[in-house]
Amino acid sequence: MENFDFYNPVNILFGKGKIAELKKHIPANANVLITFGGGSIKKNGVYDQVISALDGFNVQEFGGIEPNPHFETLMKAVEIVKTEKVDFLLAVGGGSVLDGTKFIAAASCYKGADAWDILAKRARVESAIDLGAVLTLAATGSEMNSGGVVTKAATKEKLAFGSPLLFPKFSVLDPEATYSLPKRQIANGVADAFVHVMEQYLTYPVNSPVQDRFSESLLITLIEEGTKAYDSETPIYDEYANMMWAATMALNGLIGAGVQSDWATHMIGHELTAFHGIDHAVTLAIVLPGLMTQLKEQRGEKLLQYAERIWNITEGSDEEKKTLAIQKTEEFFQSVGIGTRLSDHNVGQDSIDTISKRFLERGYVGMLPDVAVTDVAEILEARL
Ligand code: NAP
Ligand code: FE
Repeated sequence: MENFDFYNPVNILFGKGKIAELKKHIPANANVLITFGGGSIKKNGVYDQVISALDGFNVQEFGGIEPNPHFETLMKAVEIVKTEKVDFLLAVGGGSVLDGTKFIAAASCYKGADAWDILAKRARVESAIDLGAVLTLAATGSEMNSGGVVTKAATKEKLAFGSPLLFPKFSVLDPEATYSLPKRQIANGVADAFVHVMEQYLTYPVNSPVQDRFSESLLITLIEEGTKAYDSETPIYDEYANMMWAATMALNGLIGAGVQSDWATHMIGHELTAFHGIDHAVTLAIVLPGLMTQLKEQRGEKLLQYAERIWNITEGSDEEKKTLAIQKTEEFFQSVGIGTRLSDHNVGQDSIDTISKRFLERGYVGMLPDVAVTDVAEILEARL
C-alpha cells in the first residue's frame, strides 16, 4: 500500500426526515444563502422542507444554477454574497449545485483579480465561506468531498478545483429527496458513481485488498441497486438509500487512499460535455470502454480481477476474459438507457480532432502515465 493522508470532516445526516434537522447544524445568527438549480426542488417539496426547517433564520436565495454550472452564473451569486454579507451557503440540489456552491464559497473570498484563476491556474483557495448541503441526486460524491467542476460557457472550458476548505460542514442525504428523479438522472447517477470507483480501482495492482474489496462492494451494489431503482415503477426506499450511500462512498477519499487514481476518463469526458453538452455521466460511459480497451495490457492484472469478481467471468483465455468484462461494462450502461457511442450523440471525427488538440496543448490527460495525450484520439475513435 502507498502512504496516504486521509481526512474527511463532513458530517453526514442520512435518512428520512433528516432535512428537518438542518437548524441544529447552521449557526443561529448566520446570514444564509440557499443555492439551487432550475427548480426541481420547488416541484418535489424539498424547497418547502428546507424553508420550514430554517424558520427563524435570516435566509436569502440564489436559484438558476445550471447543470455543469457556469462560472458566469456563479459570479452573480458571488456578488450577492459580498453585498449581503452572507456567511453560510446552503446548497440544495445535485452535484452541479453543490460544486457551484463550493466555487461561490471560494470565489467570494478570493483576493486575486479574477476568480477564474482558481480553476485555470489552480490558484490556492486561502479562505472560503462555510457551506452545507442537502443532496437531491445521488451521483457525484460532491456532498462528501472537497472538489468541484465548473464550466466557462464563453470559452467552453470545463475545469476542476478543490481545497480542504471546501468540504461541506454537513450534508443531508435523505433518499426520499431523490424520489422525483427522472430515469435519465438515476442512470446518470449510477454511471457516474460506477466510474468514480473505476478511476480509483482499475489502476495498477498494489497490495491493497481493503481498498479493492471496498471498491468491489460499491461496484456490485451500484449494479444491483442501481438496476433495481432504474427498473422500479415507483421508488423503493432501500434501493434509493443504498444507491445514495454507494455514490457518496465512491468519492469521499476512502477507496482512493493508498492506491493510485487515474481520472483520465473524467478528463476526456469533461471535454465532451464542454463542447457538446452531453450529460457528465454519459460522457464517462462513452469513454470508459475505450480506455479499458486501450489499457488491456498495462492494467491487465486488475482487469482480470475485475472480470472475475464483478462479472463472475472465470472461463476462457485472459484475452477473452478482459474483452468480455469490457463488453459487460458497456452493456450495463446501456441497460440503464445510456447511449455509449459517440454516434448516439452526433459527435464525429471533427470533434475528436478538436478535443485531442486540446489535450496536446495541455500536455497531460489523467494522473497515471499510461494514458498519454497522443492516446486520446485513438480512445475516442474507438467510440465513434
Ligand atoms: P446535476 O447537474 O446536479 O443535475 C442534473 C439534473 O437533475 C438537473 O436538471 C436537476 O434539476 C435535476 N435534479 C436534481 N435533483 C433532482 C430531483 N430530486 N428530482 C428531479 N430532478 C432533479 O447532476 P449531477 O450528476 O449530480 O451533477 C453533475 C455535475 O457534477 C457535473 O458538472 C459533473 O462534472 C460534476 N461532478 C462533480 C464531482 C465532484 O466530486 N464534485 C464528481 C463528478 C461529477 P434542477 O436544476 O431543476 O434541480
Ligand atoms: Fe464524475
